[in-house]
Amino acid sequence: TRAHLEAMEKARALNAYVLETPERALAMAAESDKRIAAGEARPLEGIPLGVKDLFATEGVRTTACSAILDDFRPPYESTVTSQLWRDGAVMLGKLNNDEFAMGSSNETSVFGPVVNPWRRKGSDAKLVPGGSSGGSAAAVAARLCLGATATDTGGSIRQPAAFTGTVGIKPTYGRCSRWGIVAFASSLDQAGPIARTVRDSAILLRSMAGHDPKDTTSVDLPVPDYEAAVTRGVKGLKIGIPKEYRLDGMPAEIEALWQKGAEWLKAAGAEIVEVSLPHTKYALPAYYIVAPAEASSNLARYDGVRYGLRVPGKDIVEMYEKTRAAGFGREVKRRIMIGTYVLSAGYYDAYYLRAQKVRTLIKRDFEHVYASGVDAILAPATPSSAFGLGEKANASPVEMYLNDVFTVTVNMAGLPGIAVPAGLDSQGLPLGLQLIGRPFDEETLFAAGQVIE
Ligand code: GLN
Repeated sequence: TRAHLEAMEKARALNAYVLETPERALAMAAESDKRIAAGEARPLEGIPLGVKDLFATEGVRTTACSAILDDFRPPYESTVTSQLWRDGAVMLGKLNNDEFAMGSSNETSVFGPVVNPWRRKGSDAKLVPGGSSGGSAAAVAARLCLGATATDTGGSIRQPAAFTGTVGIKPTYGRCSRWGIVAFASSLDQAGPIARTVRDSAILLRSMAGHDPKDTTSVDLPVPDYEAAVTRGVKGLKIGIPKEYRLDGMPAEIEALWQKGAEWLKAAGAEIVEVSLPHTKYALPAYYIVAPAEASSNLARYDGVRYGLRVPGKDIVEMYEKTRAAGFGREVKRRIMIGTYVLSAGYYDAYYLRAQKVRTLIKRDFEHVYASGVDAILAPATPSSAFGLGEKANASPVEMYLNDVFTVTVNMAGLPGIAVPAGLDSQGLPLGLQLIGRPFDEETLFAAGQVIE
């Protein structure tokens, strides 16, 4: 814990942590020392972790990296983090993210952007770590924690993991409790770990997952021994390669790495088959209707009364308006505008209802593939390696949204997906491959991920 606290101090230029909690960390570590000395070590005893600022931490500032939450200190702890502390992990601090987890580059945080610890060969230019869990990914990659909590609504665990050479798993929807996590799009949000290795991510997920009566969408299924699954191998498994993920204009290096990934799995005893997910091309536009719609509803609670910031006005309506105008950033406002528009009486059928129908078709595509005996699907994690800080933030929002093309389908279908580092591109930057599994079969993803890692 001390070594990590020192490393955090030296790496403040990365802006990965928005709050360091050294006293709490040292107290937790001292308790761990006692338990170890008494021969009563818990499963994660003394393991120092970072927490995405979207997770409520009791008495510790939790802002979702938005000005609107100001100095909010929750009187409760999220279920996922409380399970990590129950198992002996140590909290180092709160990690930066895109405001309300909206973004793919960690440039929308009120605390400023996170810097990716990686650089292109022969260049000092700063790169984004991906988003929205950019602080989590950068902190793990820069050795500022042994693992971190993260959330994934449309790729926010897997894309930053791919941009930083780390491992990120988004479990099946319902696997981890959403209780105490700031809501973005409730039907898509899932918590998961970002870690250095497949095995570390399996160990962390074991503690994070599990049924919670406080979240009605949390599923009452036993949590398997994920760590045991890591070394299971892929002999006899059928891995699908979805032809619709071969996009026009995709860098040849990514295409080649994808091919290599298939060869590694084949060499380890898996059967590789081509599969079709015909509705893939509609996933991104449908996601950018469903996610803002749910966000506009979830974010209605920030009214200057219940949490954080309040800007006074002459009456309550003006107070609402001024608070929300001052408290939300540009991207968040854009999502609220899109969301209220697609949910409005005149446009509901044309946009929101249509997007929900598309969502069903996407889910069915996966069901057909899995019904044909396929155990997991192999795809790229992102359409590029990490891009430059400011490079896309100043372009059109759609260009930023295109980053999520390989990740959003998984959230729309509620499936588990893991991003695993698979190699470096010609600029020396990490590239990730993604494995998508059957519902509640994270074990196969750990087994296949281990072969690729
Ligand atoms: N980049 C996507 C978005 O901006 C996904 C974000 C996420 O998964 N939280 O909506």
